[in-house]
Amino acid sequence: MHPQKNNSYQFVIVGQGLAGSVLALSLIQAGCSVMVIDNPKLSQCSRVAGGAWNPIVFKRLTKSWLADELLPELNLFYTYWEKQFQTSFVYQRSIIKSFTEEQEERLWLKKAIEGNQYLDNTIYRQYPLNHLYTVASYSKVLQAGNINIPLFLDLTKHYLIQSNAYMQHTLNYHHLKIHESEITYESLNASQIIFCDGHLINQQPYFNFIPMKPVKGETLTIYCEGINLENDILSTGFFMLPLGHHLYKIGATYDWENLNDIPSEEGKQFLIDKFEEIIKLPYQIIEHQAGVRPSVVDRRPVIGRHPNYKNLLVFNGFGTKAVMLAPYFAKQFTQHLSQNQNLHPEVDVKRFYDRIQS
Ligand SMILES: Cc1cc2nc3c(=O)[nH]c(=O)nc-3n(C[C@H](O)[C@H](O)[C@H](O)COP(=O)(O)OP(=O)(O)OC[C@H]3O[C@@H](n4cnc5c(N)ncnc54)[C@H](O)[C@@H]3O)c2cc1C
Repeated sequence: MHPQKNNSYQFVIVGQGLAGSVLALSLIQAGCSVMVIDNPKLSQCSRVAGGAWNPIVFKRLTKSWLADELLPELNLFYTYWEKQFQTSFVYQRSIIKSFTEEQEERLWLKKAIEGNQYLDNTIYRQYPLNHLYTVASYSKVLQAGNINIPLFLDLTKHYLIQSNAYMQHTLNYHHLKIHESEITYESLNASQIIFCDGHLINQQPYFNFIPMKPVKGETLTIYCEGINLENDILSTGFFMLPLGHHLYKIGATYDWENLNDIPSEEGKQFLIDKFEEIIKLPYQIIEHQAGVRPSVVDRRPVIGRHPNYKNLLVFNGFGTKAVMLAPYFAKQFTQHLSQNQNLHPEVDVKRFYDRIQS
């Protein structure tokens, strides 16, 4: 990173959730000077997430959007930063997908044989999940996995602090002074400011024209001995992800009404009911969390420049799939900002320009 004179940066990034973290590291890797402003208390979304990536849409057994392009970037990005931070936080796993009907098995095999490389072309029998419950029929999604998001965020924050690139602070949008070629905020000075403020983008004055459809989600962290799920993620109407030491994250719920980070009794009961359907062992709830996913109505990220203020930018809208989408689009956005490379038209914020009165 370039040394800073007079608190002057190429980019100020607002938000150090998964989006802001991945983008900040990508810009720093490209040699840009960055300052990240974050108040981690304002949105819990990234810390609540299971952190899984899944290249398959289960409903239709098709590849998820751009999966073939996203996976190589995901692997390159996270493993590069694992090496830099000298800590492991990426776990390559299969997703065990259970079947209840023969029809589902037949469709799975058809799609696997037709050439979807993420679908294992074998139907397996009798996965002994614990001594009281066996998954009768299942197959595996290949090249899936998860990252430990809280650890990745902590490592990134530590790295940013050491690089003098982090400020814990709530940005007051009304105190931004926007000039033709620069932005000032208190003692900071930046050429451009990039908003990675998650679902709170709805409440800010500049990018609130983006049609968001945020969705609250809840997860439980459970301690349970005797579950046979060390390396895989289980998907059987809900997900169960091994964290090690008999801990499992289970989730998730979807609630479009109560958009807050407060864990609810309904959410907890829903997850307990799902869990107890298949795990008949004693267990303890260690943590119950809630967050709001920053989803856009057309279910695509939203990236690019404000139509009226060229030095205000957005990198947001990663919905339910930030782990997989963020590295690819952070690289593309970095190249857009440094080399003027085009953004993918489906993510470009330009698609919503007609919603703003100029
Ligand atoms: C229950 C649940 C399960 C999920 N599971 C998965 C999964 O398995 N895989 C996956 O890929 N995705 C998953 N997601 C989605 C994923 O978590 C989100 O897409 C992602 O975390 C969004 O990251 P973000 O950085 O855009 O937003 P956030 O995580 O909300 O980060 C925004 C940051 O900006 C800060 N901020 C906002 N405004 C200001 C301000 N004015 N000043 C300073 N700081 C500010 C916030 O405090 C926060 O730190 C899940 C989400 C939920 C809720």
